[in-house]
Amino acid sequence: MKTDMDGLILRDLTVGDKDRIITVLTKEKGIISCYVKNALMVKHHNFAATTPLTYSRLCLYRNRGMYIVDQAEAIRSFYNFSMGVKEFALSQYLCELAIETIPAETESDGQLELLLNCLHVLVNGIKTNDVIKAVFEIRLATLGGNMPNVIYCAECGTYDSPMMFFDPYTNKMLCEDCFRGQEEFCALSRGAVTAIRYIITAAPKKIFSFMVSQESMEQVARISEIHMTELVGRQLKTLNYYQLVNNDKDKA
Ligand SMILES: [Zn+2]
Repeated sequence: MKTDMDGLILRDLTVGDKDRIITVLTKEKGIISCYVKNALMVKHHNFAATTPLTYSRLCLYRNRGMYIVDQAEAIRSFYNFSMGVKEFALSQYLCELAIETIPAETESDGQLELLLNCLHVLVNGIKTNDVIKAVFEIRLATLGGNMPNVIYCAECGTYDSPMMFFDPYTNKMLCEDCFRGQEEFCALSRGAVTAIRYIITAAPKKIFSFMVSQESMEQVARISEIHMTELVGRQLKTLNYYQLVNNDKDKA
């Protein structure tokens, strides 16, 4: 039996001379792996539609527990030859995070919508890379049931304080009164706390509609990266690469 599924191609792996296995994020089944026969033949009608960063309609059938791509049609490609190295590195990190954190065979409507939205904002240069990365990390964690705990002070329950302190390793926030100088806590301005709360709760289509100062954004970016890395349990290679190309900016 054949099934149609729309999905974003996250990664591909060549098998033998001509075949590939692609990793796809779908709305209905979360992360799935699909076999593409003869994929390296450029003339093959499935080729463009089964390359990474393409959102495609896939016609699949199952054989021995594996999805096989029967036909594929590209709906939208997020790969852009003029994309800068930092933007490309970020797109790879977002895809790897999706692969690492979204379960297989589980409905993942929210995660797919989030990733498509982030890639759209990325390829069109609508927001800075830091903002896109933090929005993806925070919202992806939230959708997976692991939101950063930035709603109340963990000790006294205070909701609003000029300065809050967040420990991304234990996922705990303290207000100014309860904070006692612990080194692992990162300071968060009121603007940074408001931005994180917004990213957690905003309607999907409005998730980028917030304003934050550069200084507060740096605080958000720092805790979102550590929080997500703690959830994954290790630092991803694509994150290393993203950091490398960003630290190299002076040489460019
Ligand atoms: Zn407190």
